[in-house]
Amino acid sequence: MDWEQIESIGDEHIPGSADTPLRDDAFEMDDNTKIEQIAAHFKEIMHIMGLDLNDDSLKGTPHRVAKMYIKEIFSGLNPANKPDVKLFENKYQYKEMLVEKDIELYSNCEHHFVPIIGKAHVAYVPNGKVVGLSKLNRIVQYYAKRPQVQERLNIQIANELKQLLETEDVAVVIEATHLCVSSRGIKDTSSSTVTASYHGVFQQEAKKNEFLNYTK
Ligand SMILES: [Zn+2]
Repeated sequence: MDWEQIESIGDEHIPGSADTPLRDDAFEMDDNTKIEQIAAHFKEIMHIMGLDLNDDSLKGTPHRVAKMYIKEIFSGLNPANKPDVKLFENKYQYKEMLVEKDIELYSNCEHHFVPIIGKAHVAYVPNGKVVGLSKLNRIVQYYAKRPQVQERLNIQIANELKQLLETEDVAVVIEATHLCVSSRGIKDTSSSTVTASYHGVFQQEAKKNEFLNYTK
């Protein structure tokens, strides 16, 4: 692939595979070593841009950025940080859809490393098991804390819920603003991107509409 093609994949945000492209040795290095090394490289980037790293306000930035990458905004790359989700018996025999809407979503575009900010709405129809509501938020946040493309984020959340809840009856809708579109490039400040994945009963028009009605 030539650079022009590679550039346009990034600018058009064309998604690749559903799995985050990670190397096999992605977690052989421990977090502290990663932070140290990223800090050193980030310092170099700032230096190249001509910033004075002796300035009191800038001095701590390389370490701060590195720590934020590993411990916060990209912590979802590491499976060790995956939320531990306990399932409960569906005691009430609740058989309707459960919708968790307006889940705050902060991610970062993998093509520009700038924020994607939005909301996720997730729904499932309980099979035998249910989860604590806050766990749905945690699953969304775990996958959001990776360099992402919105389509992949959507698919990863849906796949995780299907597997975890042992049901196909899962729906995920994400509505988000991409800062790489609003603050740079074409500088469109009003557009947002909506992605959706509907599985099982949510592929039926009536169920899909019921879900979408709740999310309004
Ligand atoms: Zn981008």
